[in-house]
Amino acid sequence: MASIKLNNIVKSYGAFLGVREMTLDIKDEEFLVLLGPSGCGKTTTMRMIAGLEQPTEGEIIIGDEVVTGVDARDRDVAMVFQGYALYPNMSIYENIRFPLRMRGVPKAEQDALIRRAAQMVELGDYLDRKPGALSGGQRQRAALARAVVRQPQVFLMDEPLSNLDAKLRASMRVQIKHLQRQLRVTTVYVTHDQIEAMTLADRIVIMDKGAIQQIGTPDQIYADPANTFVAGFIGQPPMNLIAGIANSGTFAAQGINVACPLGLSGKVTLGIRPEDCSVGGDNMQGMVYGVEPTGDMTYLTVTTGAKQIEVKAARDFRSDIDVPISIGFDPARLYFFDEQGQRLRGKA
Ligand code: ATP
Repeated sequence: MASIKLNNIVKSYGAFLGVREMTLDIKDEEFLVLLGPSGCGKTTTMRMIAGLEQPTEGEIIIGDEVVTGVDARDRDVAMVFQGYALYPNMSIYENIRFPLRMRGVPKAEQDALIRRAAQMVELGDYLDRKPGALSGGQRQRAALARAVVRQPQVFLMDEPLSNLDAKLRASMRVQIKHLQRQLRVTTVYVTHDQIEAMTLADRIVIMDKGAIQQIGTPDQIYADPANTFVAGFIGQPPMNLIAGIANSGTFAAQGINVACPLGLSGKVTLGIRPEDCSVGGDNMQGMVYGVEPTGDMTYLTVTTGAKQIEVKAARDFRSDIDVPISIGFDPARLYFFDEQGQRLRGKA
């Protein structure tokens, strides 16, 4: 078990910066999620921690050891990727055993370790099968067992659930979290799925264009986004972002009027989450564009001017489309951002 430090890591490909000056302290036993859109640099960051790529600049420390320049084989990390990469001709037992053989673990100790790892991912009854005779979720669990069989200092997981269907993803998610808590191995997990990040992470690192946008616990990132990128990335649906003008304590945009801090003036962006909007208030006048019941609540889309606003309405809310509707915003849950997208924190 170990902490991981990235000190001013840069990865450049010619003139292109895949990762820009990244500094990050990952605590021992922490479950850290790197979250961001395709191409933001999360896989590159993880591959540098693994030793599969070398940073152009900067230093990586695992535990007490500077590992920059150390080969992947000589770093005590175990990786799980989306493709499972199980050996098709080996039984699940042999697949899980593989890293023990590689590491020269004495034969007499191997069997107990393999069975314990298989038990943890509930594959104890499948050890004789070949990967081809398992479901996608079982194969993914076998890959996990192979990663956990020798307790490494660090787990690195790159979108390990992306090949699974939605139901299986949700059940594997909770299994991975449970397993990580049980084993207490420092884990870095890469995903572009904000729900995975929110549910799994002790802390989330949100990246865009090779740079860290915000680091925080899921609660901090949700409640206190640093900029419009983070605000618009987290939440299902994410925060509504509405460009408008602030003047003398009022924010106004087409069809929208809401009190704002007196100190705000000029062009600002209002942020309001769909769950903090309610049908029947007087902050927004618009037209019903769509109504989507999900059972436990109803997604309501309202158009005002050229903008569509998402509202989470009550489970029994129903309406025709193209009829007028009024929406209220929870005044305690308004966010404001400047023209560069940076958060403006309640200037009174
Ligand atoms: P995804 O979710 O699509 O895997 P990512 O956030 O993991 O995206 P990376 O794979 O880390 O993104 O890539 C970061 C950036 O670096 C991308 O713009 C990518 O095109 C670029 N990149 C990665 N590897 C190379 C390479 N070998 N040569 C040039 N550019 C590269």
